[in-house]
Amino acid sequence: MARLARQSPAAAEIDPGWIGAADRPSWQCFPALTAEGLPHGFSLRSRTAGRPPPVRDLGMDPDRLVEAEQTHGNGIAFVETPEPLFYPDVDGLLTACRGVALKIRVADCAAVYLFDPEIPAVGLVHSGRKGSEAQIVRKAIQGFRSRWGSPAERLILQVSPCIRPPHYEVDFAQQIREQALDAGVRAFFDCGICTACHLDRYFSFRAEKGVTGRIWAVTMLPTCRS
Ligand SMILES: [Zn+2]
Repeated sequence: MARLARQSPAAAEIDPGWIGAADRPSWQCFPALTAEGLPHGFSLRSRTAGRPPPVRDLGMDPDRLVEAEQTHGNGIAFVETPEPLFYPDVDGLLTACRGVALKIRVADCAAVYLFDPEIPAVGLVHSGRKGSEAQIVRKAIQGFRSRWGSPAERLILQVSPCIRPPHYEVDFAQQIREQALDAGVRAFFDCGICTACHLDRYFSFRAEKGVTGRIWAVTMLPTCRS
């Protein structure tokens, strides 16, 4: 399979990868990550206001969700053990621990999933306007290399729905793309979807003037490899 950098909103619209009941999908999954067998999800706006869908839908244990404080900086933490469940002062989490689920909350900012299937190791990064300026995705790619020797060419990157022009003046999804491609990433995927364009599916801090919920981006390494 050729892994070319691509940005294909049309494809994402055709195959959104919803899971859950057809009339009430709970999580969005991304075809590039599903193809690698990586458990992951991006929570869709549910009819139960503000409450994310259960992570058990994705085979994850809600008591083993590790989260970052998210300060709009570029700090990255390596999660080496199932505890603690909270990492202050960071906006990105990387792990090679199986069964530990990573969680990032967003509402317009991008969640960026990173996966090295060889180690295997996985990462989740919060990259909005400030984090993208501070090059957190570049730092995460460097983190994979320094901690596990992962070449950027082996990584799979997926950008979640996030706010985009013309709904927002800064195209940070494009900045994320540039950071990834400059670092040598070949398997770069951006769903191309704007959160503010689809308030039926996503929360948008900007479009809803700050009164909104948070989307959960979650992922974890599979507990056994097929
Ligand atoms: Zn939009």
